[in-house]
Amino acid sequence: QLGDTVLWDRWLSDEDEDDEDFLYRVLLLGDRGVGKSSLVGIFAGVSDKEESPGVDSYERTLTVDGEETTLVVMDTWEQDKLEEEDVMKASAYLIVYSVTERSSFESASELRIRLRRLRQADDIPIILVGNKTDLVRSRDVSVEEGRACAVMFDCKFIETSACLHHHVGELFQGVVRQIRLRRRGPCG
Ligand code: GDP
Ligand code: MG
Repeated sequence: QLGDTVLWDRWLSDEDEDDEDFLYRVLLLGDRGVGKSSLVGIFAGVSDKEESPGVDSYERTLTVDGEETTLVVMDTWEQDKLEEEDVMKASAYLIVYSVTERSSFESASELRIRLRRLRQADDIPIILVGNKTDLVRSRDVSVEEGRACAVMFDCKFIETSACLHHHVGELFQGVVRQIRLRRRGPCG
């Protein structure tokens, strides 16, 4: 609990501006049940996390392309309770849907539109994540649809299975690369 509180303060603090290059804040959004907590759990190395109300945050230092970066990942469970100010603080967003649930895919589009409005002036990485690819027979949203949606909304796209740990590492490494690209340009 204490760890969470400290991280939450860190998320809200403005004193990190100097660390900006090393500390990246990532916010997960998406309908309930799509697998946000499962994805974060794998990232954080937690196999069985208890559900606790509100927002949970996890911090981990990743080495991507030979360079260390600290990601603070915020897992929300009630988006309505999110303060706009907190949403604004993110360096990147993961919009998660379940490939087995079309309504969650539609919610993802709505979230993308809301984010665009909220952060009109900023060029912030957004990654569309289609989770639960292991549930092949209940798939309701095709890869092509996911990809087309990402193109239309100008964001990156990846499909994952939290269950099989498939593409989860790639997802978080991809986030780091996207943030670096925006901050430093393609040659930085
Ligand atoms: P959240 O509400 O978005 O945080 O979703 P959770 O991470 O709590 O997951 C909701 C349910 O979906 C849980 O029962 C998970 O075990 C299950 N789940 C999450 N990811 C996957 C996945 O990739 N494949 C399958 N089959 N189930 C998943
Ligand atoms: Mg959750």
